[in-house]
Amino acid sequence: MKIKKFNCISCGAPKINPYSSPYIVCDFCGTFTDIDFEQSLNAWNKDPKRTERYTKEKVKFESKLAELLGKANKEAYEKIQFDYWDLYYKIYPEYLPPTINTDEKYKMYVDICANVSTIYAFDENWSKKAGEQALLQQGISYNAEDGKTYADSVPFFKLTDFYLGYLKESFSDFYANPNYKIMYDLLPPDVNLKMKTSVYVQAWIPYLRENDAQKLLKQTNFTTEFTDAVTVNGKQQSCLFCQHDVFVPDGSFKVMCEHCLKVNTVQKVFHCISCGTENPVPENPAKPINCVSCGTENRLVKGWF
Ligand SMILES: [Zn+2]
Ligand SMILES: [Zn+2]
Ligand SMILES: [Zn+2]
Repeated sequence: MKIKKFNCISCGAPKINPYSSPYIVCDFCGTFTDIDFEQSLNAWNKDPKRTERYTKEKVKFESKLAELLGKANKEAYEKIQFDYWDLYYKIYPEYLPPTINTDEKYKMYVDICANVSTIYAFDENWSKKAGEQALLQQGISYNAEDGKTYADSVPFFKLTDFYLGYLKESFSDFYANPNYKIMYDLLPPDVNLKMKTSVYVQAWIPYLRENDAQKLLKQTNFTTEFTDAVTVNGKQQSCLFCQHDVFVPDGSFKVMCEHCLKVNTVQKVFHCISCGTENPVPENPAKPINCVSCGTENRLVKGWF
């Protein structure tokens, strides 16, 4: 059987379990590793009523935010941003990164979303770039063909180049900020970049001619590679959170339940390969870890690199 190819960015293992959310989580080390663009699009289109509700609410938020920005009321602006992001993830729980699995992490994450949006809106350099982007977007001409509206290639890819460059630049700025250090665990930069890119791609695909759509998917690395499915031994276990069956491959330390989207810890301890001492499994089991007793380096997830 051919399946979509995803390899873990931490341990190299292929994705084993079938999944239904846009987020690809490694079945061996629990690292949040990739985005499936098609699943993301499916989630967006699943329920037109909720998208309608979201769109309506978003317009209200945007006008409030514009008003507060005009009044230079940064504090109130950040509060409204918090409510906006909170609403967004309540309406689209599929888009909440699976690493955010406690109320405390959720609050921390939404706080960061609100904080960053506020800083960028009030910063001269970033708001100038947002203005440039808006101009490029307004510069796109459209043509109607066979009852569909298409954006013209040249101005569209001008916007795309600008936006992808802007994302990369703002990301290196954002992840370098010590205030957001927690984000390396909640949402690693590569995956976050892919998530933002995916939102852009899914918004534009409906307005692109087939050739342009293919070009965009290629440029953003969303073309799908297929590979032979890997079968491994393992066992069924019931999810610690929702009691649904989860397939745990042999050698796994953390596996996500595809039903409730929570990551289950499979093994809490391991025995040192050199002295046999019991050690706790680290937060990221893909990272080599030194034995607490003899200092020997242990690699917990084996065989994929
Ligand atoms: Zn992994
Ligand atoms: Zn579950
Ligand atoms: Zn040891």
